[in-house]
Amino acid sequence: MLLSLVLTFALLAFQRKVIRATGSTAGVHDLRTRVSGNQWFVQLHLELPGEMPLHAAHELCVQASQVIRQHYPRADVMVHADPV
Ligand SMILES: [Zn+2]
Repeated sequence: MLLSLVLTFALLAFQRKVIRATGSTAGVHDLRTRVSGNQWFVQLHLELPGEMPLHAAHELCVQASQVIRQHYPRADVMVHADPV
C-alpha cells in the first residue's frame, strides 16, 4: 500500500543517515501500518547493535518515529528496538 511505500523510502534514507553518523547498521523489519477512522498507526522494529548504550538506542528510536511523523504528523508511532 502507498503508505508503506512512502515510509519504506523515508526509512531507507534514515538508515543511510544512521550508518554515516554512527557507523552502525539500523535494519528495519515488521513495518506495519493501520488506519482506524482518522487515526494512523505505524509500528516498526529497529535492529540495533546489542552493545549500543540504551540512551543511544533510544535516541535512534525517537529519530525513527520523527521520520514517520515528518510524513504523517498525526500518526501514532511505535518503534521497538531489537538487539542484533
Ligand atoms: Zn523484531
